[in-house]
Amino acid sequence: MRGISAFGAGAALWLCAATAGMTAPSLTVLCGVDEAWCAVMQKAYEAKTGLEIAMTRRSTGDILNQIRAEKAAPTVDVWWGGTGDTHLQAGSENLLEPYQPAHERDMLPWAQNFFAMSGGRSAGIYAGALGFAYNADLLRAAKLPAPTCWKDLTDIAYRGRIQSGNPNSSGTAFTTLATLVQLFGEEEAFRYLAALNRNIERYTSSGSAPVKAAARGEVLIGISFMHDAVTQKEAGSPLVIVAPCEGTGYEIGAVSIVKGARHVEEAKRFVDFALSPEGQATGAAAGQNQVPSNAMAGLPLAAPDISLIKMVDYDFATFGSPEERSRLLERFDAVVSATN
Ligand code: PLP
Repeated sequence: MRGISAFGAGAALWLCAATAGMTAPSLTVLCGVDEAWCAVMQKAYEAKTGLEIAMTRRSTGDILNQIRAEKAAPTVDVWWGGTGDTHLQAGSENLLEPYQPAHERDMLPWAQNFFAMSGGRSAGIYAGALGFAYNADLLRAAKLPAPTCWKDLTDIAYRGRIQSGNPNSSGTAFTTLATLVQLFGEEEAFRYLAALNRNIERYTSSGSAPVKAAARGEVLIGISFMHDAVTQKEAGSPLVIVAPCEGTGYEIGAVSIVKGARHVEEAKRFVDFALSPEGQATGAAAGQNQVPSNAMAGLPLAAPDISLIKMVDYDFATFGSPEERSRLLERFDAVVSATN
């Protein structure tokens, strides 16, 4: 009921505009989740509201850079999806508009904490753990040992056989960087990244590309969110998904309204839909396996049980700060170019 009344005003507005011969209000959304989910969400929202929206998929760091660059004249209304620490970084730079979503009280505690931490600028829409996955057919054919820990990935046996995202563009890869720093301490984490770099075949722009490449047999191991690997496995690929033995980090995917958005009221309606059980169900409908943030939303059947995974107490406040982001990215770039 709440969903229907929330959309009544928008639909009525659009009908008035249509009868008066005006252009229908539109909304521009940058989508940080998998392309498949972006498409299903766009269709569901348009069917629900009768509004046409523009939705483009970009990696999380690229979205942050676009919103920064357009600060004086934003073209984007909503940033939907992508890792929450990058949303927090944007919030700290005063690039986001505070909004109290209609469904906030139905959110699970981790999402409510995230919303409070963002100063009411970003709401958590899903959670998922980081990990890696290997192609079992390739592993067997190459007679290689099965990796079970982060540290295994630096073994010379995997030289040129691993893909990871580039943390400058990919939120997944920034989560990897922050996770390693939290797990091992910063100095050891960068020694690890230097060793890992020797085994990296390619740093991809998007964070889900590595497990997609492993699923297709183009590379042995992909570092990505475990739910991305589950989606590939569910589609029939021979992936083995690993929750690393040392423990791992996780993301809270988020939605935010851009400060200075041209369609603020539409943007609020979109955020309400994204947090509603109906909006959250679009993830499972698109074959996605994150854990939804709304307690009333159903869990995708194949979603990894994050309560069973050894998880770092992820410090969103520290790794959501723009200064920490810039510092870690600079150090990452330096380590990669020094070991190439
Ligand atoms: N795809 C999925 C399924 C995700 O959960 C996330 C993170 O929120 C991303 C993609 C992020 O993409 P990228 O690493 O390209 O920023």
